[in-house]
Amino acid sequence: ESRSSAEIRQMFLDFFASKGHLVVPSKSLVPEDDPTLLWINSGVATLKKYFDGSVVPPKNRITNAQKAIRTNDIENVGKTARHHTLFEMMGNFSIGDYFKAEVIPWAWELLTSPEWYGLDKSKLYVTVYPKDQETKQIWAEKTDLPDGHIYEVEDNFWDIGEGPSGPDSEIFYDRGEAFSDLPADDPEMYPGGENERYLEIWNIVFSQFNHLPGLTDNSQYPELPHKNIDTGMGLERLVSVFQNGRTNFDTDLFLPIIHATEKLTDNRHYDQSQDTEDNVSFKVIADHIRAVSFAISDGALPANEGRGYVIRRLLRRAVLHGQKLGIQENFLANLVPVVAEIMASYYPELGQNTAKIQKTIDNEETRFKRTLNAGLGMLAEVIAQAQTDHESQISGEDAFKLSDTYGFPLELTQEQASEAGLTVDVAGYQVALEAQRNRARAARSDDKSMGIQNAVLTDLAVDSTYVGWQQTEVDGAQV
Ligand code: ATP
Ligand code: MG
Ligand code: MG
Ligand code: MG
Repeated sequence: ESRSSAEIRQMFLDFFASKGHLVVPSKSLVPEDDPTLLWINSGVATLKKYFDGSVVPPKNRITNAQKAIRTNDIENVGKTARHHTLFEMMGNFSIGDYFKAEVIPWAWELLTSPEWYGLDKSKLYVTVYPKDQETKQIWAEKTDLPDGHIYEVEDNFWDIGEGPSGPDSEIFYDRGEAFSDLPADDPEMYPGGENERYLEIWNIVFSQFNHLPGLTDNSQYPELPHKNIDTGMGLERLVSVFQNGRTNFDTDLFLPIIHATEKLTDNRHYDQSQDTEDNVSFKVIADHIRAVSFAISDGALPANEGRGYVIRRLLRRAVLHGQKLGIQENFLANLVPVVAEIMASYYPELGQNTAKIQKTIDNEETRFKRTLNAGLGMLAEVIAQAQTDHESQISGEDAFKLSDTYGFPLELTQEQASEAGLTVDVAGYQVALEAQRNRARAARSDDKSMGIQNAVLTDLAVDSTYVGWQQTEVDGAQV
């Protein structure tokens, strides 16, 4: 019998509730009072104020399932089996309460006890930080993790430069031989090497040191007076294990969206048994429509900068993949009710906001298509010309014109170019961008009457195309 995603999410929360944790609902994807983050990108991101001591938590044990967006993983979507832009992170948190000796046996109990997830112990592996022998010892002595399943990994230290930091321990699930063929984005994936056989499901961070200004050697960081635990387990990955999906997409969280998309095509199909080019398009569309639906539901709107730019870019990518599947009409809004239905039990707000989300998406799709056709024509010419001239690169000027005139983000041009085996002259693109910025500045000083308002609008519009997208969150350890 295979468990539903809703049951798997609920079981996590129930388990930690049974260990004295307060269950808090998912917060908005748009960070509240936190200018350092574009999107909530982990469970702990919504609890930062409890950890830095600026707000007293309602309880020092908290658990949640939190929607998160990671823009740094956009390019991975559809290529790896395990990455999404929007995903749910389930976590348990100790704010100066329990520490390693409690959290490790609990993680093991939840994963392996037949009363809870009941996963096969022989398939689980963990990594620890080499200098953190304490954690290694707890895994070895306080759990029945099989011998030889602990790996020491130099990267397992969470440090954002200053403040709380510490080692972490990641838990991997061995998906078996069959998964050795799937390429991974991360050659350092443990313990298997360059494939998706070993799936990272859970990360446990032991926030025990204080990275003081000026220190560079983490063995000199003083211990924190109150030690914290912060964990994150990806729901979609765990569901792929329970539902025996080849990828995260082959689960009840994504298949209904994929099937609805199939119906909007002229007989194109998603293949669950092997990787196909069409599969990538189906996956990207399913991923992006989820991210965009949640983001709009949480109050973000398509725009030329910041969060809005991320939404715009995701929608454009989804439209382009729709075209690859031969879909001509506007189609993305049709998928919103499907997403809302899948998520209804935990995120009822999507159902309440469906009409608004659909309208926003449909308008944006229409708007993009207007310029898209003209832009695609130009891009095809530019690519053909580069090939005729035996060039390996598209000029920065052309890339700039595509973004400035046709709304093609640089990254989109790069993607399309790379499919034709070409790169883009990014430095040249930046020169063209800077030149336009200077022209805009000059124009501003020429026209003093509109000066103040223009200064704001122009800076927003100009910065946006470039800076917005560069504002990615820190990858790797949770922030
Ligand atoms: P990976 O190495 O696979 O990219 P990570 O180490 O960057 O994962 P963490 O920052 O440790 O991920 O986040 C905690 C957990 O959240 C991960 O163990 C994984 O289960 C899940 N997770 C992280 N990024 C994604 C993503 N883009 N899509 C789906 N799940 C994710
Ligand atoms: Mg990790
Ligand atoms: Mg990792
Ligand atoms: Mg990552």
